[in-house]
Amino acid sequence: MARQVEVDHNRCEGHGKCVLAAPEVFEHREDDLSHVLVDDVPEALVTKVDRAIRVCPRQAIAWRD
Ligand code: SF4
Repeated sequence: MARQVEVDHNRCEGHGKCVLAAPEVFEHREDDLSHVLVDDVPEALVTKVDRAIRVCPRQAIAWRD
């Protein structure tokens, strides 16, 4: 089943660790926040997204239920 990931912009501080962990999924924009690039995370990128969730210092990234 396809999974979606989201960034809580109330928590994100834009340091970009998620972009380093999964550049295919997260993008740092002019608003200094991380944005999700894909609606559905391909199975091949799930491990990278899990890593981004782990390294985010603000716990701003979560899988959507
Ligand atoms: S690692 Fe977390 S706080 Fe940093 S840009 Fe990504 S979502 Fe925002």
